[in-house]
Amino acid sequence: MFSTGVFLLTVLISTAEAGPWATMCAGKSSNEIRTCDRYGCGHYGARRGSRTHRGVDVLCSDGSTVYAPFTGTIVRQAKPYRKNNAINNGVQISGSGFCVKMFYIKPIKHNGSINKGEKLGTLLPMQEVYRGIQSHLHIENCDSSDPTVYL
Ligand SMILES: [Zn+2]
Repeated sequence: MFSTGVFLLTVLISTAEAGPWATMCAGKSSNEIRTCDRYGCGHYGARRGSRTHRGVDVLCSDGSTVYAPFTGTIVRQAKPYRKNNAINNGVQISGSGFCVKMFYIKPIKHNGSINKGEKLGTLLPMQEVYRGIQSHLHIENCDSSDPTVYL
């Protein structure tokens, strides 16, 4: 009886730790949030000068394969910066009750369907732009709400 309870509790805890989204970076066992480095912190709501960080930064090495977090449709290309640089690329994906923008990736395509866990693209060379940063992909909800619970 007791061991069954411990087992169920363990299952519930491990379910609570991982959200509904797939692991997005190849070689990682989970979506790890960037901590703080000299360019800032990776959590939702972190300070970005006078603004706040409206997404979450998920650790990923430059050139790594990036997977789709859920099944849906790539709606359009989405870029983080007005001024172009080596990491100014990404996509907006909608489906499975979610809508997100993902930045700093070179997508395999700019429209069409994609399945959860399918290759979406590769991480762009972030170290060329922000040397010493914890390289990451940025994911944010289209409505700017906190996506951390989905990771
Ligand atoms: Zn970010």
